[in-house]
Amino acid sequence: AKSIAVLTSGGDAPGMNAAVRAVVRAGISKGFGVMGVRRGYNGLLTGDVEEMNLRSVSDIIGRGGTVLYTARSPEFNSQAGVEKAAEACRKLNVVGVVVIGGDGSFRGARDLTGAGVPCIGIPGTIDNDIASSEYTIGFDTAMNTAVQMIDRIRDTAESHDRCSVVEVMGRRCGDLALQVGVAVGATSILVPEVAWDFQKDIVDRMHFAQKTGKQHFIIMVAEGVGGTAELAKKIQETTGIETRATILGHVQRGGSPTLRDRVVASEMGYHAVELLEKGSSNRVVVMRGGKIVDLDITEALNMKRVFDKNLYDIALQISI
Ligand code: ATP
Repeated sequence: AKSIAVLTSGGDAPGMNAAVRAVVRAGISKGFGVMGVRRGYNGLLTGDVEEMNLRSVSDIIGRGGTVLYTARSPEFNSQAGVEKAAEACRKLNVVGVVVIGGDGSFRGARDLTGAGVPCIGIPGTIDNDIASSEYTIGFDTAMNTAVQMIDRIRDTAESHDRCSVVEVMGRRCGDLALQVGVAVGATSILVPEVAWDFQKDIVDRMHFAQKTGKQHFIIMVAEGVGGTAELAKKIQETTGIETRATILGHVQRGGSPTLRDRVVASEMGYHAVELLEKGSSNRVVVMRGGKIVDLDITEALNMKRVFDKNLYDIALQISI
C-alpha cells in the first residue's frame, strides 16, 4: 500500500502531537499507510521511521512537545542530504510527507518536493512568525502560559511597589509580546517590529502612571529585542523604582495544548492529508481570514509578515 510520512521539525510547540494524531488517523481512514519519522528530517536520513497505527497516537492530543521528537538537521540542509532523504522516501514507498514546523522546515519541504517527493507543510511554532498564516500551532498555548506566569510575577511585584521587566519568546516576531503585553496590562511593550526610545517609551510612561497613583509596572520585552537584564538595571537607576528582570524562557514551549491549538492542529492535519490524497504537492496549510486553506510553499515563503500596529497603538493608549 502507498504510505505517507509525517515528521515534526525545528522548535517543538504544544499542539504538534494533535497535528500528528490528525495526520495518522486521517491518513489511515483514507487508505494510506502512515510512517512516523523521528527527529525531523534526520529520521529520513538515518532510517528512524516507524509505521503508525490508529492506536500509536492514542492519548497524545493533550500532551505538549512532540512524540515524534524534533531536530534541526544540518545534513539535510544540503543538496546531497535532500537527495538522500528523497531516496529513503522512495524505498519506503512514501508518496508524500507532511512536515510540521516553521519556515526553515518549509524550505526543507520545498527542497524535498523538488527532489520528487510531494510535501505538505503545517505551521507549528509558538512564535506565530509565519507570514503566510494568521496562526501557528502552539501560539495560543504559549500566550496563555506566559499570561499565567506573569500574573504570578505581578502578585509579588504589586506587594513591593516594583517594576518587572519580562522577556517572552519571539526572535524575529513580537506577536507573543504584543498579545501577552495587552493581556497583562504592560506599561511598555518592546518588539523587534517597532522602534522605541528608553526615555519616552519607558521612563516617561512610568512617571506619568506613577503620578496618577500606579505603583507597579510590567515592561514586556520580546526575545528579539533582548538586553532584558541590562534594561531592568537601567530602569532602576533612572527611576529609583526597584526593578527585576524575568526571562520566561522554555516554560513557554511546554504544557498541555489549549483547546484552540488542539482544534486548529486537528483541522490542519486533516487538510494536509486531503491535499496528498488529491495529489497536491508543495503546499502549506495556513489560516487566512480565520479559515484553513493552502498555498504554494514558495509563494508562502516569499510573503512578508504584517505586525498588528493597530493593537499595539491601542495598548499604548490604555495601559497607562
Ligand atoms: P522554528 O521557527 O520553530 O525554529 P523552523 O522550522 O524555522 O522552526 P529551522 O531550524 O529553521 O526551524 O529548520 C528546521 C530544519 O529544516 C533544519 O534543521 C533543516 O533540516 C531544514 N531547513 C532549514 N532551512 C532550510 C533551507 N534553507 N533549505 C532546506 N532545508 C532547510
